[in-house]
Amino acid sequence: MIKRFTEEQIERLKSLTGGSVSFGVSLSSFTSFKVGGRAEALYEPKDIEELSMVISFANVASLPYVVIGRGSNILVRDAGIGGLVIRFGRKIAGLRLEEKVNRHELICGAGAQLKDLMRFCADEGLSGLEFLAGIPGSAGGAISVNTGAFGSDIGGKVTGIKVVKPDGSVEAIEGRDLHFGYRELSLGRGWIVVEGAFAVERAEKEDVRGRIKDFIRKRNEKQPLDAPSAGSIFKNPPGDYAGRLIEAAGLKGMQRGGARISPVHANWIVNIGGAGSDDIIGLINTARERVKEVSGIELELEIRILGDES
Ligand SMILES: Cc1cc2nc3c(=O)[nH]c(=O)nc-3n(C[C@H](O)[C@H](O)[C@H](O)COP(=O)(O)OP(=O)(O)OC[C@H]3O[C@@H](n4cnc5c(N)ncnc54)[C@H](O)[C@@H]3O)c2cc1C
Repeated sequence: MIKRFTEEQIERLKSLTGGSVSFGVSLSSFTSFKVGGRAEALYEPKDIEELSMVISFANVASLPYVVIGRGSNILVRDAGIGGLVIRFGRKIAGLRLEEKVNRHELICGAGAQLKDLMRFCADEGLSGLEFLAGIPGSAGGAISVNTGAFGSDIGGKVTGIKVVKPDGSVEAIEGRDLHFGYRELSLGRGWIVVEGAFAVERAEKEDVRGRIKDFIRKRNEKQPLDAPSAGSIFKNPPGDYAGRLIEAAGLKGMQRGGARISPVHANWIVNIGGAGSDDIIGLINTARERVKEVSGIELELEIRILGDES
């Protein structure tokens, strides 16, 4: 890991965060792949105000930072991440409903998990977000990558977000000013999503519960959920499926070290035990090369690879 902090900066960070920062922590337990080296500094913000102070300090000190939520759409390299890793845990994670004149908005902190949103919607009788059931992410992460499933994506439901910018300022942005693409949201460099608002509708609680269960059942039927992974590795190219192309290239089940292209779903790589980031990156590169040779299509990554190259 390339160290970025001076001793003085470490002391300053500790005092800004009241000590809620740890140094040299392994990130593997903070990613769904269960892979990844150490974070030079891992910080879980207590509230938006504290985060703003930390970000403006990092900005002035030219310290790099990356943000993670549940770590379910990332691969962290074994060399780890120098600088600051900001993780949204359970602290900025409140959920509330705002009833407006002719619409309802579910507002939540970036650290709320999608499963918390599902529970809230089922308990309150709110419909519109059920397609997210079973996806293991945070609200902030899901908004940042425009998580989607079964033909819908979260961007289509977002009515607004709040961000912290690198200078520490907090800005509210209306949904109509956000530009969501396929598994992406164009945000300014270094902006951090701290809150999201979603359009929901009143519905019978039992109906909402039923739809959530249905979506989870559909997932269980076709996804290899018994081993650590990060879900789909590649985006589906227009008019085709990355999984079909990888399978057609003869790679389903291919293994490298502790990583394997899932025999159940070829667009998933699973950690079958002790995988290193190089094992997974090796399979990613092989899949890209072979699919290009066989089908002429260049696959684009859906997951984000973070961390220092060793
Ligand atoms: C079993 C399984 C099933 C999955 N199924 C699906 C699926 O059906 N559809 C789908 O789209 N995805 C799926 N995923 C991928 C993933 O769960 C989602 O994309 C999830 O919403 C990502 O949220 P996260 O909190 O884990 O983000 P992370 O993985 O922690 O981060 C993802 C990216 O967002 C950035 N980021 C995170 N939080 C913030 C923030 N607050 N502000 C700014 N940037 C931020 C990170 O820097 C990173 O670049 C699946 C993953 C698994 C393991």
